[in-house]
Amino acid sequence: MPHCQTRPSENTLQIKGACPHDCPDTCALLTTVENGIATKVQGNPAHPQTDGALCTKVSRYTERTYHPERVLQPLRRVGAKGAGQFEPVSWESALDDIAARLQTIAAHDPQAILPYSYAGTMGLVQGESMAARFFHRLGASLLERTICASAGGEGLVHTIGAKVGMRVEYFAQSRLIIIWGSNSITSNLHFWRYANQARRAGAKLICIDPRKTETADKCDEHIALLPGTDGALALSVMQQLITHDWLDHAYLSHYTLGWEALRARALQWPPERAAAVCGISVAQIEALARDYGACAHNGQSAAIRMNYGLQRVHGGGNAVRLIAALPALIGAWRHAAGGVLMSSSSTFPVQRAKLERPDLLGERRPRTINMATIGDDLLRADSADFGPKIEALLVYNSNPVAIAPDSARVVQGFAREDLFTVVMEHFQTDTADYADYILPATTQLEHWDIHRSYGHTDVLLNRPAIAPLGQAKTNTQVFRELALRLGFVDVCFSDSDEDLCRQAYGDAVDFDQLLEHGFVTLPTPAAPFAQGGFPTPSGKCEFFSQRLADRGLDGLPDHVPNHETAQTSPGYPLAMISPPARNFLNSSFVNVPSLQATELEPVLEIHQDDAAARQVQSGDVVRVFNDRGDYHCRLRVSPRARPGVVNGLGVWWRKLGLQGTNVNQLTSQALTDLGHAPTFYDCMVQVERAQRVEPTRT
Ligand code: SF4
Repeated sequence: MPHCQTRPSENTLQIKGACPHDCPDTCALLTTVENGIATKVQGNPAHPQTDGALCTKVSRYTERTYHPERVLQPLRRVGAKGAGQFEPVSWESALDDIAARLQTIAAHDPQAILPYSYAGTMGLVQGESMAARFFHRLGASLLERTICASAGGEGLVHTIGAKVGMRVEYFAQSRLIIIWGSNSITSNLHFWRYANQARRAGAKLICIDPRKTETADKCDEHIALLPGTDGALALSVMQQLITHDWLDHAYLSHYTLGWEALRARALQWPPERAAAVCGISVAQIEALARDYGACAHNGQSAAIRMNYGLQRVHGGGNAVRLIAALPALIGAWRHAAGGVLMSSSSTFPVQRAKLERPDLLGERRPRTINMATIGDDLLRADSADFGPKIEALLVYNSNPVAIAPDSARVVQGFAREDLFTVVMEHFQTDTADYADYILPATTQLEHWDIHRSYGHTDVLLNRPAIAPLGQAKTNTQVFRELALRLGFVDVCFSDSDEDLCRQAYGDAVDFDQLLEHGFVTLPTPAAPFAQGGFPTPSGKCEFFSQRLADRGLDGLPDHVPNHETAQTSPGYPLAMISPPARNFLNSSFVNVPSLQATELEPVLEIHQDDAAARQVQSGDVVRVFNDRGDYHCRLRVSPRARPGVVNGLGVWWRKLGLQGTNVNQLTSQALTDLGHAPTFYDCMVQVERAQRVEPTRT
C-alpha cells in the first residue's frame, strides 16, 4: 500500500490531498474512500496550517464531486451558441475534430488560437504544465493572467521585491493586526485563527474595508473607507507617523530607498485631506496612525494582512505599494510578528520553465492577450496592431462568461458563430453553454497535483483518492492526446502526472516527504527583512522604484483616483464593489445545492439612507444599472453597506440569477495602474426597483 494512504478499516482508505481552490489557505485534505467512493473530505489534522478544519464550501466537496449535473462525457453542441444544447460524443471523435480544427487554423496563423485559464485549480500540474507545453509547441497566443492579483503583485514586486512577506503563523504573536481589504473569516479562515490567538493575548485588530464584513464585526475597529481610496489613507498614516516622529530612523536610513521623496509626498496628506477623499473621519485616521506608531515607539510588533480586494481599482498597484511601504517606516520588519503579508507565492521555488517549456516556442514570439479584456478582444477584427482575429478558444479552469468584466461584451464575443470554443469543465457553466465541445474534466479527488500557496509557505501534494468519474479526463491527458494528434512528438508530452509533480520543484523539495506526509514546509527565516535584504534590485525596501521610472511611470507611489467617480459618471451616484458571497468562491460552488440554498439569490446590500432615497426596501427586486448594462437582484438594506457604496455579492452564474445576468454586467474592462488587471471594484451604478422580473432559473 502506498505510504501516503492510511487504512482505518478493510474497505476504507484515507487519502492525503490539497485543496485546489483560489484561496490563500491551501488546506491539506484527507479524503475518506469507502469501496472506491469518496464519502468524506476533511482537513488533515497533521498539517499545522489546516489544523483539521476546512471552510464550509470545501467540506461539501463530495456533494460537488458527485453532483448529478457533473459533465461525465464529451458533449458536442447541437443548438445555437449559448442555448446550452449538446449531444454526447465519443472522446475519439471529439478530439479528432478539435485537433483538425486547430490544425486548420494553425496552418495560417497559430496566434488565432487562444488558451483561457486561471485558478479553477491552483494546481501546478492540472493548471499550466502540459497545457502550456501544448500551446507553446503550437505557437498559440499567450494569455496574460491578470484577472485577480496582478496589480497587487506588481505593487509588491516594486516595493519589497517579490510576493513575499511575514510568515502567517507569526500573526499569532502580533500586538496590532491591521486586516486591510480582506474578509478573512470567509476567504482566509486559517489566518483568522492566528489573528484570534493574538487577540486573546491582548492584540488589537483593525479592519479596513468599505464593507462591514463578518471580519469587521469581530475586529476592535472598522474603518469603512470608500473603494479605491486605500492609497490616500496610507499616505495620511505616513503623514501622521512623520509629524509625530513615530519612525524608525535607523531602519529608514539603512534599509530603504527614496525616503526623502516619499516623506515629501506623504506630508501633502494631512488627515483632513485624506478624510475627505476616503469618506471617513479625521479622528479615525489619527487613531489608526497612533495605534501603528505606538508599536514603533514601544518596540511592539505591528502586522498588516492585506488581501486582493483593495487592488481591484484604477490605483490598485499604487495602493499596494503604499501599504507595503508602511512597515519600513516604523521598523516593523525587525519583528517576526511584524511587517506585511499579501502573498507568499514567490517563496516557492517552482521550476516553471521545466513544467511549461517556453523553449518549445523556438524563435516564435506570439502576441499576448490580456484575459481581463477578453470581451473586447473576441470582437476585434484582424489588424496590424492586434494581429489575427481570435478564431479558437480553449477554456480550462475558468468560467469567463461569468467572471470576466463587462459581461455583455464577453457574451457577444462568445456568441460569435465563427469562433471555435472548447471548454474543459466539471459542469455546464455559463461559459460551457457557448462551447462547441464540452470535455469532462476530473476534480481534485480524481487526479494528481502539486501545490504552492499564497497564504503560507508549505508545498502540498494531492494524490487521487478515487478513479475519474464517468469518462472524465485530466487536463494534462487531454493536452497529451491533442499533442499526439497534432504530431507533436517531443518526449515532454509523454510525462505522466506523477512525473510532472516531481518536476515542479525538482530537488528543491523532498518528494519522498511529500509522499509520506502530504506537505513539506519550506525553510524560511522568521523575520526575513529584519536587516533589509529585500529581493529588490537595491536590496532595500524601494519607496522609489527605478524600474517603474524607467518605464516612464512615477517611481514613487501615490494615490491614484478611481476611473469612475460621481463626477466622471453622472447619473450613477453609487460605488459598487462585488466581493464573493460567503458560500461561493468566485463562480465555483454556485451550483452546489446546499450552498446555493444558503445564499438563496443574488443580493445587493445597501445602506438605509441610500435605500430610503430610492424608496426601496429589503426584499425588493432591484435593477442595478449603468451604461454597460443592468442586473437584477434582491435588495438587502444592511449595516454591512456604508453610505454611497453598494455591495453586489457574487459571483452568481448568470443562468442561476434572476434575469440571466450577473454583477459583471456592470463592471468595466478598464485596467489598473500596474499589472494590467481588471478594476471590478471601480464601478459606479444606480439602483431602482425593478419593474417586472422573469426568473431564468430552471
Ligand atoms: S479555506 Fe480555502 S484552502 Fe481551505 S478548504 Fe476552504 S477554500 Fe480550500
